[in-house]
Amino acid sequence: MRVLIAEDDVVTNKLLNRLLTKFGYDCQCVFNGLEAWNAIQNEHFPVVVSDWMMPGIEGVELCRRLRELKDRPYSYVILLTSRDERDDRFQALRSGVDDVLAKPIDLEELECRMAVGTRIIKMEHHLKEQNLQLEESRAQLEHSNAVLLTKQQEVERLLAQAERTSEYAQEANRRFEQLFGEIPVAGFSCDESTKIFEWNKKAEEIFGVPADRAVEKPMRSVIGKKLLTRKALDAIHAVFQGVPFVDQEWKAGDRVLLVSGYPMVGYNNKISGCLATAVDISQLRKIEAELRTKMKELRAANSKIEEANRKLSEMAVTDGLTKIANRRALMDRLAICLEQAERGQRFTLAMIDVDHFKKFNDEFGHQAGDEILIAVAQTLKSSVRKLDFVARYGGEEFCVLFVNASLRSAVKMAERIRKRISEIQNPYRAITASFGLAEHPGLPIEGDQLVRAADDALYDAKAAGRNRVAVRSIEFEEAA
Ligand code: GH3
Ligand code: MG
Ligand code: MG
Repeated sequence: MRVLIAEDDVVTNKLLNRLLTKFGYDCQCVFNGLEAWNAIQNEHFPVVVSDWMMPGIEGVELCRRLRELKDRPYSYVILLTSRDERDDRFQALRSGVDDVLAKPIDLEELECRMAVGTRIIKMEHHLKEQNLQLEESRAQLEHSNAVLLTKQQEVERLLAQAERTSEYAQEANRRFEQLFGEIPVAGFSCDESTKIFEWNKKAEEIFGVPADRAVEKPMRSVIGKKLLTRKALDAIHAVFQGVPFVDQEWKAGDRVLLVSGYPMVGYNNKISGCLATAVDISQLRKIEAELRTKMKELRAANSKIEEANRKLSEMAVTDGLTKIANRRALMDRLAICLEQAERGQRFTLAMIDVDHFKKFNDEFGHQAGDEILIAVAQTLKSSVRKLDFVARYGGEEFCVLFVNASLRSAVKMAERIRKRISEIQNPYRAITASFGLAEHPGLPIEGDQLVRAADDALYDAKAAGRNRVAVRSIEFEEAA
């Protein structure tokens, strides 16, 4: 430890130097106040042993100046004085001196006082170090506090965020529950063992089971094993493999449900449930079945009507007795033939009248007459070519349209038919018929004109003795 010895008395100075060096101090010796002041300004001495009375600056003044130096560690000042007045010691102590040692110096006392000074300086040094450490700790603490504060703020922010998230989650939960609860389709969810988790209002209605008796129960015990068949269970298990099922029919008796199932994915992306919807279509199926029966009945009624209609339209163009075309059908066909004649296809109309038929009826009865009419019609029909047209004109009169035939060939055909009529076998007696033929002239005419001409020809045949064929041409009025 460095010690400054300020003593103008050379002997004392040396003595002090020798003693203190012996005690282990590292001494610097000065011989007046100014030197001492210079030394103090240049270097910090933990202990200063100074004489009071010195040339230049006295010991007390030196101490006062020393105390005024700023930013310095403490220096322990021992003042040596031969003034041992009580007041002098107080003055010295008041001016900042730590200890006053009377001259002549008592060696042991000096050693002890030096030890006190050293202890105080060491203590001061130690305190300073502690202070420094404390300062460091305080700085560290402050830093830690700042870090802690930031962390705390972060935690608070996270907490607030978590709170908000939890609020959102709760809100979302509420909304989901409301939505799921109120949708107009039965909805329920289950785990892989078919234990039910959710069960909405419509499910309560459709299955007739309240939620508190469905939730946490196995599905089979809730909806019955008739509805929950092997197939339905397989479909639910498949949902847990990621395969949904749509509109599967679950039936029990008259009840038919359309059930769909979809995977519910949990937080870890694993399928944690099956969300199922069910629609009761029993009523729909019943109505469909009724509709099918009604449709069947309707179709049957329709085909009956169609058949009746067919018969009706047939009847409209068919003669009831002979089952060949009637007069109306004849007039339609005649109109077509007239049109075709305008494009060059000629034809001949034949009027056929059974001879003395009134007499026949009178002799054999109306029934026999009818039989004859039927036989004549069949003879006509089987004797003409396919393209020709046979019809009953009315009463015992018939017509044939010989299509695409010249008058000559028509006459030939008429002759053959006439002969066949005369050969008709019947249980009464042979009958004959007269034929009147008129050919389309190749000029535009009305159907009536041709009918009239054929009728005239028939009149001719009757007049000529019946059972024969007569022909007539259309007479055109001469131009005036
Ligand atoms: P004509 O040789 O001059 O033709 O003499 P006709 O007796 O055949 O002619 P008339 O016109 O005098 O008589 C036709 C008869 O045909 C009168 C009627 O009783 C009979 N007749 C008309 N339609 C039918 C029918 O549908 N069934 C029956 N059985 N007879 C009928
Ligand atoms: Mg007649
Ligand atoms: Mg007749």
